Amino acid sequence: MGGRSISSRLTASYSLVVFAGLVLFGGVMWLDLKDTLMTGRSKTLARRIDRLSEMLREVQADAPDQQARKFQAFAEATGAGLIEVFQTDGTRALPSPSPAAQSFPWPERTALDRDQIQEVDLSGQSYLVLMRPSILGSKHLILSAAASLEGNRPILRTFSLGLLWTVPALLALSAVGGYWLSRRALQPVDAITAATRSISFSNLSERLPVPPTRDELQRLSETQNAMLARLESAVIEIRRFTADASHELRSPLSFIKTVAAVGLRNRQADAESLRAFTQIVEECGKTSRVLEDLLTLARGDAGRAQLTFEPVDLADLARGVCEKVRLLPFASEHAITMTAEGAGPATVRGDFSGLRRLLWILAENAAKYTPPPGRIHISVKAEGNEVSVAVADNGIGISPADLPHIFERFYRADPSRSQVEGTGLGLAIAKWVADVHEGHLWVETSEGVGSTFRVVLPAYVEPPGSTRCVGVPAAECDSVG
Ligand code: ADP
Repeated sequence: MGGRSISSRLTASYSLVVFAGLVLFGGVMWLDLKDTLMTGRSKTLARRIDRLSEMLREVQADAPDQQARKFQAFAEATGAGLIEVFQTDGTRALPSPSPAAQSFPWPERTALDRDQIQEVDLSGQSYLVLMRPSILGSKHLILSAAASLEGNRPILRTFSLGLLWTVPALLALSAVGGYWLSRRALQPVDAITAATRSISFSNLSERLPVPPTRDELQRLSETQNAMLARLESAVIEIRRFTADASHELRSPLSFIKTVAAVGLRNRQADAESLRAFTQIVEECGKTSRVLEDLLTLARGDAGRAQLTFEPVDLADLARGVCEKVRLLPFASEHAITMTAEGAGPATVRGDFSGLRRLLWILAENAAKYTPPPGRIHISVKAEGNEVSVAVADNGIGISPADLPHIFERFYRADPSRSQVEGTGLGLAIAKWVADVHEGHLWVETSEGVGSTFRVVLPAYVEPPGSTRCVGVPAAECDSVG
């Protein structure tokens, strides 16, 4: 098979989109939070500078040392005392109100015409600085205030940590949910695939399940079912034609054979005519065997095979087949043996002539495809609720290239490997017989070493209440039990 399922591909693409969405959303939220925090800080600084400006206006008329004291008191009351009043040449208009303000790396502070806000780094810590140009009387001043941004860090860290946990959790949740949803949505596809796989030449009347979803899947099943219906009627037509043609050809063929046989008995016929009659009789024999085989398969395909199911002892059947195979001209030098194993009788419920045909095909093939003198062994085994028959030979075997095809109709392995004649229909019929008996037919083979064809059939189970009458005359049997 190989390849990933649609569900997993859908889940992968869906998860990728969700992941990108979550990362984008998280990033935007993080930036927004940072911006909000910064805005909050700059508003605080702006308010502080407003108040400083007011205070400076109030102390404008005071003596310088009094102004300095009030400025210091103001600075102590506001944050960490990070506040300064500069002149436009960069020097302080009032003495630094605190050592922190004194040593603080205030940014370039000349030629300001509007508020300037800036981030400054001091010993690894970030500070936000607001500088505002202001006119007090005739003096041009720059009011400066700074505030640490360290308070923002834990908030941003907590937010980032939250993102770090929630993104994978949401991703996993959406992947599981997405996979479950796509599996559910595609379940009808699995059902359609399984049904399509199970439909073959022999069960073309079956149809695919149609999901009542009114979507593409429903239309797909309906279209495929319509195609199956068309195929079925075409196949029925072909089967009927094959059965009818085989049937119709039987009579003229046997008529030709009879006429040729009459010609053969004509004592006045010359040698050439007699040779021609002999050939006609032989060819008619071969052709009628092909026709019989074709008719068997065509009737089987059309469900018109006349089968009578009854208890059949496969050991008895194999014994009979064994004896008949020994009489075949090409089997005269083979050692053909048969054994029956198992505790109980090797009885199956089946069609006597069909099963005899099956065993005959396997045994005749074993004799045909084994160079003389060969060994052919038929073993019948009753085991549990199964009866198996194995036909083993030490013949030419089957090549790996031919193996997958030998049960196909008209398939014959490379004819140069064996000089024997055949139609290529024997194993197809054997397989059909095994199938109608709910059995299984297969081969184990090795080229140049031999082949073993095995058929396993369900054992006959006596209906409950019936009595086995072993060694009791039939008339008495009814009275037993
Ligand atoms: P055929 O009329 O040719 O025997 P079958 O359908 O019975 O047709 O068999 C199909 C092919 O399978 C044969 O042509 C032969 O090559 C191969 N085959 C069947 N039985 C044996 C066997 N016992 N040993 C080797 N090859 C076999």
